[in-house]
Amino acid sequence: MTFKSFSQIRGQERAIRFLKQVIAGGKIPHAYLFTGIPGVGKTTTALALAQALNCREPINEEGCGGCRACKQVMNGNFPDLISIEPDNQNIKIDQIRELNRNLCFKPVTGPYRVSIIHQAETMTAEAANAFLKTLEEPPPGNILILKVTEPLDLLGTIISRCQKIPFRPLTRVVIKELLMTETDIDEESALLLANISEGSLGQAIDSWEGDFLQKREEAIVGLIQLPSIPAEDALDMALMLTREAKKAKTDEKGKDLFNLFGLWKSWLRDLIVVKVGWTEALFNLDFSRNINKTAHHLGLENLINGFFLLDQAQKDLRGARNLDLMMENLVLNLRKCLI
Ligand SMILES: [Zn+2]
Repeated sequence: MTFKSFSQIRGQERAIRFLKQVIAGGKIPHAYLFTGIPGVGKTTTALALAQALNCREPINEEGCGGCRACKQVMNGNFPDLISIEPDNQNIKIDQIRELNRNLCFKPVTGPYRVSIIHQAETMTAEAANAFLKTLEEPPPGNILILKVTEPLDLLGTIISRCQKIPFRPLTRVVIKELLMTETDIDEESALLLANISEGSLGQAIDSWEGDFLQKREEAIVGLIQLPSIPAEDALDMALMLTREAKKAKTDEKGKDLFNLFGLWKSWLRDLIVVKVGWTEALFNLDFSRNINKTAHHLGLENLINGFFLLDQAQKDLRGARNLDLMMENLVLNLRKCLI
């Protein structure tokens, strides 16, 4: 991840304005809850905050970029930065105990040590309780930043002790621009990725680095064929998709399916867009003929239902106990919407 200072971060102006105000006011809360989907700049902002707080000569509440602390943060070797991530599925009590021990030492470089807790919602109950004690009264010189997609997944007692800072999904324009400045992507692919990455730059970059374009084609062709194949074949398709998803590494399980549902959503969205006569807003421009033809004989209500089925499926993926069953239901219900 390339370092960015506050003024280089795009699309999170509100969050950054707030953090700068806090720094300017001089009363720095010791715990923050950064909320929002992955890939919109939460970690980047946390690092910019670490820099701004430790800079010797900050300019407009921003790191100067030249002092020792600034350089260390930029180069990724700032000694007063702790990063806690789930070990396997969860953040465990041992990780929190070790964190608590480390927080007792004085920061090495500047006035503040910054600890970032990634996927804070994965803390086990014991870990969360041990963490709660730290959160009540951390040793001076410590800033804690909890990152979470959905705050309701955390204990209320944790939420209430943190300064909440929401991070918004990025606009398509911002994602397209960032893709073009940060990768060697061509403009057409950047636009396509921006259209279907649900406001997450991280997801757009992941898709670009993977075999995204080929997968997208397969996903859309599969969906186009779905209404015309027998129900048994649709079930086979569902099982094949979950089999593929299960092959993925543990920490990426469900990600392929999440992206697949996103692509399917973009297809349904386009059908809806055409149906209501807003053809210039199409995402999947290269399939526009097919979309126009298909939209013609489908009902708007069915298309909207199909879209929300997929949207719900993306949310359900995280807690799904029986992926096969979930996919079978989804594919069959989706097929009904498209017939
Ligand atoms: Zn500096």
